[in-house]
Amino acid sequence: MGKATRNRKIMGKLNVERSMSMFSKAMKLMPGGVSSNARLWESAQFCPLYTPCTIFAKRAYASHIWDIDGNKYIDYRLGFGPVILGHSYPAVTNAIRKEEWKGTVYALDNELEVKVSEKIINMVPSAEMVRYSVTGTEATMHTIRLARAYTKKNVILKFEGHYHGSHDYLLYSTSPPYNTKSRPYKQSLGIPSEIDNMVMVETFNNFESIERTIKEHHKKIAAVIMEPIMGNASGIMPKKGYLRHVKELCDNYDILLIFDEAETGFSVSRGGAQELFGVTPHLTTMAKSMSNGFPISAIAGQEEIMKLFGPGKHAVTHGGTYASNPLSLAAAEATLNVLKSRSIYDKINRYGTTLMKGMSKILDDYDVPSLMLGHPSMFQFIITDRENIYNYRELEPKDGGDLFSKIQYWLLTRGVMVDEDYQECWYMCLAHHEQKDSSKTLEAFKIAVERAKSSHFKATRFKIPA
Ligand code: PLP
Repeated sequence: MGKATRNRKIMGKLNVERSMSMFSKAMKLMPGGVSSNARLWESAQFCPLYTPCTIFAKRAYASHIWDIDGNKYIDYRLGFGPVILGHSYPAVTNAIRKEEWKGTVYALDNELEVKVSEKIINMVPSAEMVRYSVTGTEATMHTIRLARAYTKKNVILKFEGHYHGSHDYLLYSTSPPYNTKSRPYKQSLGIPSEIDNMVMVETFNNFESIERTIKEHHKKIAAVIMEPIMGNASGIMPKKGYLRHVKELCDNYDILLIFDEAETGFSVSRGGAQELFGVTPHLTTMAKSMSNGFPISAIAGQEEIMKLFGPGKHAVTHGGTYASNPLSLAAAEATLNVLKSRSIYDKINRYGTTLMKGMSKILDDYDVPSLMLGHPSMFQFIITDRENIYNYRELEPKDGGDLFSKIQYWLLTRGVMVDEDYQECWYMCLAHHEQKDSSKTLEAFKIAVERAKSSHFKATRFKIPA
């Protein structure tokens, strides 16, 4: 046991002094001290002097992650989802090692591109052709351009609480204040107001509302884009028949349906949410789990639509210096080779189900009114009196999120890493150990709930380093 872990166990508090000292340096060099705003923890109870802040990772292996203070955690953030096999999964690491000596970017096609495309087309129902980008943001940006070109219409309909990356066209109503009347709600400064008119926002799982909107506005709607499971809103699931309902509306009104499977692709099943629910969209974006954490994303869909990316004066531009770079493709090939086997998903889902059931029982035992949302591979618990949650607004926790953030803090002190934002999910991976990791997690969860409920919580205060 490292010194920091020992101290943490003795004092029951999280020792993150080195992280905080590094964070104070980072804040002088990088705005907010981070390279992605989503990494900042707003309610970092371990350091009220620096909220929002983040802790510094040192390394990660299999189901665990270590910080620079030497704390070791079972990792349920998994890089916001991508690490489906576990960190540094040997088959993926070996594939990268073999490839790295051959150069990292060619600006030419390479054979891996063809091999990975064959695999994706084999696994994902909607995939007839594939193009690669580097991030989920680029994938959705190019996909809506393609949809606009194909349909010759401009408006994109999205859903409240669904996130599709950080570009201007879809950064609306991703996590608005629960009581806002403004829809679409701009999530950032700097988005031109001209774009407001190109976005429509609907409530997920409301059959009548989307039907009304599409009937009224179909002449201007190019595409409906959605996360089929709301990975960025605690894993809210689609109601039975809802995805099919939206697909039929799209088919009837010449609108393209885009599933943004950046999170669900290759994670909720080998063919993504579209396979799980048996609804095939016209276009799909995928990222995260396809390469176990290497930077690559894919756009896939019907040949007739995808071909607009091809050459010719009416082509849709899609580009990227690092698109289909051989290292990310090698990682994708190795990852998809493992994910071919359905038994992988049985194991991941079994693990997730154990946690979901165990956590739910603990919350009940401590009289915490709550709901478990999501799929066994990506889920979250919500403190609520509701019997069901089907859309973003219903997600508002009854205590404003206070108990959740205390539970998260106490989980950290017991070596379990989950995000401080209850709108994120807990992610499961193949490397989570069915006995050791699950029993340690449930033990930690029980203690965390107990402590969070008691009034003895004292946040640790650190001096601001000079
Ligand atoms: N789409 C979804 C559903 C996502 O969850 C994310 C990222 O969390 C993105 C798109 C954007 O991906 P990236 O962060 O790689 O740009």
